[in-house]
Amino acid sequence: MQGAFAEHVKALESVGARTRLVRTREDLDGLDGIVLPGGESTTMTMLMERVGLLEPLRRAIDQGLATLATCAGMIVLARDVTDGMAGQQGLALLDIAVRRNGYGRQVDSFEAPLHIEGMDGKTFPGVFIRAPLVERTGDVEVVASYDDHPVAVRQGRILALAFHPELSGDLRLHREFVRMANK
Ligand code: GLN
Repeated sequence: MQGAFAEHVKALESVGARTRLVRTREDLDGLDGIVLPGGESTTMTMLMERVGLLEPLRRAIDQGLATLATCAGMIVLARDVTDGMAGQQGLALLDIAVRRNGYGRQVDSFEAPLHIEGMDGKTFPGVFIRAPLVERTGDVEVVASYDDHPVAVRQGRILALAFHPELSGDLRLHREFVRMANK
């Protein structure tokens, strides 16, 4: 609907996946996985609601559609959101609480090397842009943390990241997501 989808398309196609932009509920048919990109979570939620995509998307993810959510996408998926817009209610499927723009003004955007659980080799370049701060986690697996806060979590077939792998030039997380979607 909005945000950094073009960069995800590029990254996914570089690792051999076929992609489709999802704009209507019909576009959900037959997908192996879906990316909820970074951007502006309030706008995304509002647009999805308007075109009648929010409920069908919630059902599809709840029923096990593999999902990669980044930044605003993580906010859209989160069960609890603080500092959201009044009445901002997204998918509420992921058992975490996030604070929008929780890293504060001084450090609006930054890059940090991340140790990702199960990922061998060098650290992953975490690109954070007005990122959500994960303040509580419930029944999820924390896959990476930075500064004592989770920045990557997994819950079933959902992988949610506070950062932007599509802007990092490192394709390992997209590869992992494609593997997950094909299982
Ligand atoms: N701060 C944005 C929001 O609240 C997220 C920023 C991003 O996706 N880079 O939706």
